Amino acid sequence: MCSCMKKLGFAARKKITVIEYFCYTCIPDKLVFPSDQTPTGDIGSSPSNPVVETLRRLSASFPSLLLACDVCLCPYTDHGHCGVLEEEGHIDLPSTLKEIAAVAASFARAGAHVVAPSDMMDGRVKVGKKRFH
Ligand SMILES: [Zn+2]
Repeated sequence: MCSCMKKLGFAARKKITVIEYFCYTCIPDKLVFPSDQTPTGDIGSSPSNPVVETLRRLSASFPSLLLACDVCLCPYTDHGHCGVLEEEGHIDLPSTLKEIAAVAASFARAGAHVVAPSDMMDGRVKVGKKRFH
C-alpha cells in the first residue's frame, strides 16, 4: 500500500472529501493522462480510463469515502483543448457536451459521488444533470 492509500484510509475514517488529484497520485503505475488520447476525448468515458479504474478501486476499498471528480476533456484529447474541435479549430459545443455527459456518467457508474465540470462553458452543467435524470 503506497503512502497515498494510507492517507486515503485516514481520509475515509475522517470522512474527508477526496478530489481527483488523489485518484491520480495513488496509482503509481498509471500516468496522469491516458496515452490513447483522441480528437474527441472519448477515452474519458471508457472503462479503461485510469480515472474510472481508480474510482472503482477506491469505491471498493473505501466505501465510506466521498469521491469527487473534476469532469473535462482536456486530459483525453490529443490537441489538449477541453472539447471536441470543428475543422476550423473552434469548439463544437454539441459534440463536446455529449462527451462531457458521457465522462460524468462513466465516473458516476465507477463510484464517484460528485462530478463537476471544470469550466463554465455553456451547457456543461445542464447536460450533466439531464444525463442523470
Ligand atoms: Zn479541461
